[in-house]
Amino acid sequence: MARISQRIGSITPSATLAIDAKAKALREQGVDVIGFGAGEPDFPTPPHIVEAARAACLDPRHHKYTPTAGLPQLRSAIAAKTARDSGWAVEAAQVVVTNGGKQAVYSAFAALLDPGDEVLLPAPYWVTYPEAITLAGGKTVVVPTDETNGFKVTPDQLESFVTERTKVLLFCSPSNPTGAVYRSDEVRLLGEWAAERGMWVITDEIYEHLVYGTAEFASMPVLVPGLADRCIVVNGVAKTYAMTGWRVGWLVGPPDVAAAATNLQSHATSNVNNVAQMAAVAAVTGPLDAVMEMRTAFDRRRLTTHRILSSIDGVDCPEPEGAFYVFPSFRRLLASTHRFGETSAQLAALCLDKIQIAFVPGEAFGAPGYARFSYALGDEDLERGLTRLADLIG
Ligand code: PMP
Repeated sequence: MARISQRIGSITPSATLAIDAKAKALREQGVDVIGFGAGEPDFPTPPHIVEAARAACLDPRHHKYTPTAGLPQLRSAIAAKTARDSGWAVEAAQVVVTNGGKQAVYSAFAALLDPGDEVLLPAPYWVTYPEAITLAGGKTVVVPTDETNGFKVTPDQLESFVTERTKVLLFCSPSNPTGAVYRSDEVRLLGEWAAERGMWVITDEIYEHLVYGTAEFASMPVLVPGLADRCIVVNGVAKTYAMTGWRVGWLVGPPDVAAAATNLQSHATSNVNNVAQMAAVAAVTGPLDAVMEMRTAFDRRRLTTHRILSSIDGVDCPEPEGAFYVFPSFRRLLASTHRFGETSAQLAALCLDKIQIAFVPGEAFGAPGYARFSYALGDEDLERGLTRLADLIG
């Protein structure tokens, strides 16, 4: 009998965390590695949030378990924040506070999928989605997109992947890894299509505040109210408030889904860290000044990253409009020479080895030939790292 179960043994380790860990380890050895792998803001958590956590630490009431679905004041604050930021009016009872948006993704799939149920997953996709689908017993149906259509899917395209087992569409805008942001008319069309077909939508809004230029965030259940009964929104404090390490996220869904996800959580993790929940109350009830400042810095770096990458021969780099990622294609380069390897995975390994820059190859996101560069790093390092790449490729 195998020591590790097939279910867990078949999970692919998170490529993004692996690249980041490798870069950090090399840095600890004194190597001047520049990391484009991180999926987290390089800013500290704003002081008023840290202060709220400190106060909670000193209050014995916050040394205890909380209700499974979260502190009542946090659930209410998340409902109020959802109405404030995306215009969706929801009850606190529809909110389940989770250990990061990641657990919300997992719980959402676990609550919806029976063995063999299919999920439409537009690619390039965030690495966690297919694994969460598999763990929940579901089947991932990849719907490919590329830079020629801005990495966006349309209802027509989705239609050709539908079978009688299709239950859920996963939607993520602004997107990790491509930085694509769907326009509100595009979001509406997709939502209407799903609603007409009686399909569920899990929509990941974790990058809602990180949009640039003329792009605007649009929330699907707001644009398509008829979808609300079959829609789960995933969100969290990690990206908006530079709180990746605090592990607070949530899902908002119909009451039966919220109850099912709470039930699951009651046996898996009980509740999110009480003190971290108090920090999240301060975050979601407080001002958005810090995210606006981060957004200005990200926007500047986005343009630098795009400028340098698109100046490299053989690299096609659409300008991203959201999140903090750029997703260039190296397909022309890899097809024209094998000097840098034959695949984006080989290219990434070569770059780490030869010029000490770390980025995540597209294979991890279902998009071989591409790569994800996070621009959540200091301006100087960013420019130095990309110049190394431009010099290498020439
Ligand atoms: N969704 C997306 C699209 C993400 O990129 C991430 C973080 N990489 C998450 C959800 C989860 O974030 P967390 O668990 O840190 O809240």
